[in-house]
Amino acid sequence: MTLTILEPVAPQSARAKAAFDSPASLRMLIGGAWRDGAETMESIDPATGRVIARFPDASEQDVDDAVAAARAAFPGWAATLPAERAATLLRIADILERNIDELAELETLDQGKPLYVGRWAEIPGAIAQFRFFAGQAMAIEGRTITPSINYQPAGKQMAAWTLREPVGVVAAIVPWNSPIVLTAMKLAPALAAGCTIVLKPAEDTSVTALRMAELIEEAGLPAGVLNVVTGRGARCGAVLAAHPDVDKVAFTGSTATGRAILDASKGNLKRVTLELGGKSPVIVLPDADLDLAIPGVANAIFFNAGQVCVAGSRAYVHASIYDRVLEGLAAQAGAIQLGHGLNPATHMGPLVSARQAERVASFVSDAQQQGASIVAGGQRLGDAGTYIRPTIVADVDPDMTIVRDEVFGPVLVVQRYDDIDAVVASANDSVYGLAASIWTESLSHAHRLSRAIQAGSVWINCHSMYDASLPIGGVKQSGFGRDSGIAAMDNYLEWKTVCAVL
Ligand code: ADP
Repeated sequence: MTLTILEPVAPQSARAKAAFDSPASLRMLIGGAWRDGAETMESIDPATGRVIARFPDASEQDVDDAVAAARAAFPGWAATLPAERAATLLRIADILERNIDELAELETLDQGKPLYVGRWAEIPGAIAQFRFFAGQAMAIEGRTITPSINYQPAGKQMAAWTLREPVGVVAAIVPWNSPIVLTAMKLAPALAAGCTIVLKPAEDTSVTALRMAELIEEAGLPAGVLNVVTGRGARCGAVLAAHPDVDKVAFTGSTATGRAILDASKGNLKRVTLELGGKSPVIVLPDADLDLAIPGVANAIFFNAGQVCVAGSRAYVHASIYDRVLEGLAAQAGAIQLGHGLNPATHMGPLVSARQAERVASFVSDAQQQGASIVAGGQRLGDAGTYIRPTIVADVDPDMTIVRDEVFGPVLVVQRYDDIDAVVASANDSVYGLAASIWTESLSHAHRLSRAIQAGSVWINCHSMYDASLPIGGVKQSGFGRDSGIAAMDNYLEWKTVCAVL
């Protein structure tokens, strides 16, 4: 078991090095111009508590200006040829790829995640979004329809068809856990559809959003097509969500904020898609390949320190293998090396902020007080208090908060089951329905359970498999609408029906 925390290794890229040494001063992007804010906020390296950047806390006026810039740019961008939008998206992908090492270092400094998470998973995933949706820009199509209307004038024929048209100005509001890829999941399909955008990154992670916007500008996006306002969710996020000239809000974040956004959208009946919280079940069947399942289940919760909306946070393990699996998971948790994300030997970094670490730690201590056992981890470590050791909780009651609520940290709850039908009922006994995984060698169990589980995504013998081609999103209180995949284009396109007597 390792309780040491690895020290950072100085970053290589000029920008990350500069921010590592002294705070960068960042500006937001409105109508093609970079603007300071009347007030500023600080971005903090969560591992050390040091300020790495200052960025604007946008005012209501700033948000108004950004929306006006997006509105003004909309007709021009909507009228571009699909091939032109596709070429722009491909250029964006190439530019991001050329800057991947710098983006990964900046994300680690700003968010805390280990370098490999950004460098090898999230940023390549973001780049893939732009390439996938470049193709989709050129594949937008309506339908021709033969209606059954029987009252057209004699001798005439009816013809009907549908057009797909961009929704308009999109507010993309994104969270802090995987900022680059979640931003790309909104920007790429919106740009492909011909929408213009006001992006609002999270307070804790605005640094890479602003750098991404700079790189996207280099790809030759016309002024106003992408605007970025940074600042407090309660002010600039709320103003954006309620703004009468925003046509659509694409949100990823907590269920509570999703509800507030839905309320705020009512004024002008915005289109809203919400990718919200989860409490995703992981079901290990008696015939699972445990050499695959034990590290797989550990990774499903501990990757990115559990700050993943689809994290497999509730494991249900068959009684016949329960002890072996629990022991294996505890060994996996104990072997995870904590450290600053800029140290290449780090497996798990700090949580994004002291506030988040406090929240996660209180879930664990409440569970302990209610009689749960802590099988691994449980402690908060480090001077800044933002590290939480990979934690496994057992001996729980299904009504405990730790079983029902989203923790959004490296905390796995393990429960034993005897009967497969009963485990399906337990897995579905949640207000959430974001994702699930099933670990089995049986094709029949895999098929049957994947249909019976209420979730937007079900993985079999794997977990958190994201790809630009695979729709992701939730059922129940995990939200509605899908990011990624062809389905995501529906978020940004309206149907127009044309019906003619000819
Ligand atoms: P957390 O509570 O973990 O910070 P949120 O879901 O609140 O997560 O944050 C996701 C995004 O929503 C962030 O960009 C945040 O600034 C923004 N946000 C927070 N509150 C609001 C709100 N009332 N209206 C619009 N956006 C908001």
